[in-house]
Amino acid sequence: MNAVATARAAYDCIVIGGGHNGLACAAYLARAGRSVLVLEAADRLGGAALTREFAPGFRVSAGAHLLHQMPARLIEELALEKHGLRWAAQSLPTAALAPDGAALLLSGSGPESIEGPVDREDTEGYARFMALMQRFAAVMNPMLEAVPPRLGTERWADRLSLMRLGWRIRRLGRRDMRELLRIAGMNVYDLLKEHFRSPLLQGALGFDAVLGTNFGPRAPGTVMTLLYRLAAQHGAGARALALPAGGLGAVADALAGAARAAGAEIRLTAPVARVTVAADRACGVTLQSGESIAARAVVSSADPQTSFLGLVGSEHLDTAFVRRVHHLRTRGLAAKLHLALDGLPKFSGLPAAAHGARLLIAPSLDYVEHAYNHSKYGAHSAAPALEITMPTLSDPGLAPTGKHVLSAIVQYAPYELTGGWAGQHEAFAQQLIDQLERHAPGLRSLVRERELLTPPDMEREFRISGGHWHHVDLALDQFYAVRPVPGATQHRTPLPGFYLCGAGCHPGGGVMGIAGRNAARQIIAGEPAQ
Ligand SMILES: Cc1cc2nc3c(=O)[nH]c(=O)nc-3n(C[C@H](O)[C@H](O)[C@H](O)COP(=O)(O)OP(=O)(O)OC[C@H]3O[C@@H](n4cnc5c(N)ncnc54)[C@H](O)[C@@H]3O)c2cc1C
Repeated sequence: MNAVATARAAYDCIVIGGGHNGLACAAYLARAGRSVLVLEAADRLGGAALTREFAPGFRVSAGAHLLHQMPARLIEELALEKHGLRWAAQSLPTAALAPDGAALLLSGSGPESIEGPVDREDTEGYARFMALMQRFAAVMNPMLEAVPPRLGTERWADRLSLMRLGWRIRRLGRRDMRELLRIAGMNVYDLLKEHFRSPLLQGALGFDAVLGTNFGPRAPGTVMTLLYRLAAQHGAGARALALPAGGLGAVADALAGAARAAGAEIRLTAPVARVTVAADRACGVTLQSGESIAARAVVSSADPQTSFLGLVGSEHLDTAFVRRVHHLRTRGLAAKLHLALDGLPKFSGLPAAAHGARLLIAPSLDYVEHAYNHSKYGAHSAAPALEITMPTLSDPGLAPTGKHVLSAIVQYAPYELTGGWAGQHEAFAQQLIDQLERHAPGLRSLVRERELLTPPDMEREFRISGGHWHHVDLALDQFYAVRPVPGATQHRTPLPGFYLCGAGCHPGGGVMGIAGRNAARQIIAGEPAQ
C-alpha cells in the first residue's frame, strides 16, 4: 500500500510507527472520531510483530512468534476477528525438553496438566504454586492494563488508582498478602527452589520469568517479571498461548483493518525525520523525504530514545529529562533463529503429537543462569536457553508443501558482543544448529536455509535502538509508575501535544496493544500538562 494523496491535510493525530501498538492507538483514536494518519518507515506493518519471508517460499513471525498477552477484551473491542484475525492454534502446551529422557509437558495449571518426569510431590506442588500465582496475576492484571498513576499528585484519580491496587492486595487475605509481599522483590531461582525438586520444571518456570528481559533467574525482581507475564496472560484468557494463522503479522493486519475501517489513513515507506515543534508544542512531523504534515497531536510508538533524542530533539526538552532518557537501559539480549526445513525434525523424548507445542531448552535454573553469565562480560551463551515453535505444524501455508519452519528465541546474545558480531554471527548460528541437533538428531540435514537475527540486526530491521524486546529494559527501576522515565509516565510527555504509545511505556513489550489503547485514551482525554 502506498502514499495517500490527501496526506498533506492537517490531522487530529499523527501516529509514528505501524507496529501493533501504533496501529491499536490509531484504531482507538479513529473510532473516537479523530482524523488519524499512521506513518510507518518500513514497507510493511507490524514492527517487531510481523510475518515475512526469510527463505524462498518460507515465511516466519520474524520478531514475536507467540501471541499470549493481548487482552481478549481488546480483540473484541476492535473486532479483530471480523478484520481477518484467524487462529492456527490456541492454548498451546509447553514442552520442557530434557538433555536425555522424556520431556515435561505443561498444558495448564491443574495437577492433571503436568505430564512427564516429575514425582507426585512436584505434581501437587505445581497445582498449588500455579493457583497462588494465578491469584496474584489476577490482582496485578488491572494494574497492568491501566495507565499508571502519577506519583505524589493531589489528583484524586491518581490516589484512587493506588488505593485500588492496595485494596486488591488487601482482598487477597492475610496469608496471600504476606506471601505476595515476601516474594515480590525476590529472585525466581530461590522461589522455585522452595517449591519444586525437578530441575526440568524449575528451569521451565524460571525461563518464563527471564524471557525477553536482561536478567538471569538469580536476579532480584525476577519473581515480579514472572508475575508480570502471568498477569498479561490472565487478560488474554483461555486462548493464550496462540499462533495466529499467517503468523504474528496477521495481528497487525487485523489492527490496520480496524483502524482503516474507522477512517484512519496508513502510509508505508514514510520514515519520520523530525517532530515539528512550534510555540513549545508538537504540531506535526517532517518526513525524511522533506514532506511536512501538520497535526494537532503526534504520538510515537518508536522507542523512547528514538522518540525524544532523535525525533523531538534534546533542544526542546529539559536537560535533566534528556539525561534520564539517555540513561535508559535499552540493549537487547534476545536473538532469533529461523530455519527453513525440508522435513519435520523429531525431538528426542517428545511424543509426536507434542511437536507443535512451545518447546523450551532450559533444563534447569543453573543452566539458564550459566547461559546468562556470559552476557555480563560481552559474550553470547555457550549453551543458550531457547523457546522454539514449529508453526507450520498448525499453519502449513507458511512453507511449501511438506516443508517446515522452525522459529527459536535465543537467550542470551548481547547487543555489544566483544569482538563484534560480524566475525561471530556465522559461528553462533552453527552453534545453535549443533545444539538443536543434539535434541533432534538429523535436524542439521533438514536445514535448507537459516537466518539469525541478533539485537543489532533487530535494531536495523525493526528500528528499535538496542534491539530490545521491551524497547526499554523491564526492570523495577523502569517499571509501572516510573516507566519509561519520570516526566513521561502516562503516555504524555514534557512536550505538549507529543505522546508515546509503544513498548517503552507501561506495561512494556509483548504483543498486547495496551500501550497503544491507553495512549489513545489519554489523547482523547486531553492534556493536563506533566
Ligand atoms: C526476538 C524477539 C522475540 C519476541 N517474541 C515475542 C513473543 O513471542 N510474544 C510477544 O508477545 N512478544 C514478543 N516480543 C516482543 C514484541 O515483539 C514487542 O514488544 C512488540 O512488537 C513491540 O511493539 P510496538 O508496537 O510497541 O513497537 P514496534 O513493534 O517496535 O513498532 C514500532 C514501529 O515504529 C516504526 N518506526 C520507528 N521509527 C520510525 C520513524 N522514525 N518513522 C516511522 N516509523 C518508525 C518501526 O519501523 C516499527 O514498525 C519479542 C521481541 C523480540 C525482539
